[in-house]
Amino acid sequence: MKKPLNAPVLIVGGGIAGLALGIALRRAGRDVELVELNSAWNVYGVGIILQANALRALRQIGLADACIAAGFPYAVSLHHEENGQPQAARHKPSLLDEGLPASCGILRPALHNLLRDAALAAGVQVRLGITVADIRDESDAAQVSFTDGSQGRYSVVVGADGIRSHVRTLRFPEAMPPRFTGQGCWRFTLPRSAEVSSAVMYHGRQARLAGLVPVSPDQMYLLLLSEEPGNPRMPDAELPDLLRDRLQHFGGQIPAAMAHMPGPEGIVYRPLETQLVAAPWHRGRVVLAGDAAHATTPHMAQGASMALEDAVVLADSLDDADSLESALQSYSLRRFDRCRRVVEASVQIGQWQMRPEPGADPLALVREVAVELMRPA
Ligand SMILES: Cc1cc2nc3c(=O)[nH]c(=O)nc-3n(C[C@H](O)[C@H](O)[C@H](O)COP(=O)(O)OP(=O)(O)OC[C@H]3O[C@@H](n4cnc5c(N)ncnc54)[C@H](O)[C@@H]3O)c2cc1C
Repeated sequence: MKKPLNAPVLIVGGGIAGLALGIALRRAGRDVELVELNSAWNVYGVGIILQANALRALRQIGLADACIAAGFPYAVSLHHEENGQPQAARHKPSLLDEGLPASCGILRPALHNLLRDAALAAGVQVRLGITVADIRDESDAAQVSFTDGSQGRYSVVVGADGIRSHVRTLRFPEAMPPRFTGQGCWRFTLPRSAEVSSAVMYHGRQARLAGLVPVSPDQMYLLLLSEEPGNPRMPDAELPDLLRDRLQHFGGQIPAAMAHMPGPEGIVYRPLETQLVAAPWHRGRVVLAGDAAHATTPHMAQGASMALEDAVVLADSLDDADSLESALQSYSLRRFDRCRRVVEASVQIGQWQMRPEPGADPLALVREVAVELMRPA
């Protein structure tokens, strides 16, 4: 039975976790306020992959069909040698019995717009360009001061403010900072070629993995994972040349895709970093969700899935429990092992790419974990 929270929930961060949580809480009849630091409230224009478990969480907040319609569903990953020679076709675990495809490529802005519009339509009260300055727990509420000088009282404060979470710094000051894994990820968007109707991957020298993923009938994105010792800064102006250099030995569809390489403004480079905060993910009235609690690498394309699942499970836990403390305990209990499995397996796969070990089978580990994740969150 739903227990009344005595004040609104405050969500800090209007990304995937924060918006999904806002929608889930509004569907449960909660009052929700959200602050987002980025006053433009925009995201970069490349793609991501939503796996079946992400689509299941999106279905729970009423958005799976819209995401599938805005993206490009597919069922297989086609793996190749560096020169384009086919290696293996891997059928991805799916939730077909729940009417969901195995995967869906989607442009990050398309996903953001769907989540944002649904959150606003559901009645989440959003303020942009500010964040929390201070959070003080009192017996019946958290007293929050914001950077614009305003104040508010909330039943719960959710840190959904991403991998460099300010809320985590405020409430979990001992948490280790995100750790660079040794690899970086390059992405740009280009017109979809008719041959790319599922993920098409190429395993190259120097631990490089290049791929093409459809994100709509007209578009796909190119991604490259590369080892980047020392985590070098990649000057914006040099991004096209640096990426061209790293792709030069790839065959198959990659040379044709390189002909569409945009200028620096169209290339997104991110060093890969991970973070796993020890459970429980709450202290007093403050709780973490999404990358703020557990950031992973894209090797399993599960970061957004975990953020979406967090949102659904946290809203559900707040609905079910006898007290706030037991609700937040239950949330961490339900989430920690699953998120740890994703983070550790993703890091392991990256390490095997950089330092191959006899008998190591990264694709088998991807599949093993993906099958586990088909179980409900
Ligand atoms: C290279 C790369 C590729 C990826 N590919 C995939 C993929 O294919 N599939 C997949 O599932 N996942 C992928 N991910 C992971 C996925 O993008 C993240 O896990 C997901 O975005 C996490 O959502 P989040 O809401 O926790 O954080 P974010 O999406 O980062 O959102 C955080 C929000 O908080 C805001 N914010 C930050 N600081 C503050 C503050 N102090 N106050 C208020 N607001 C603040 C930010 O502006 C942002 O809007 C990838 C990640 C990387 C780096």
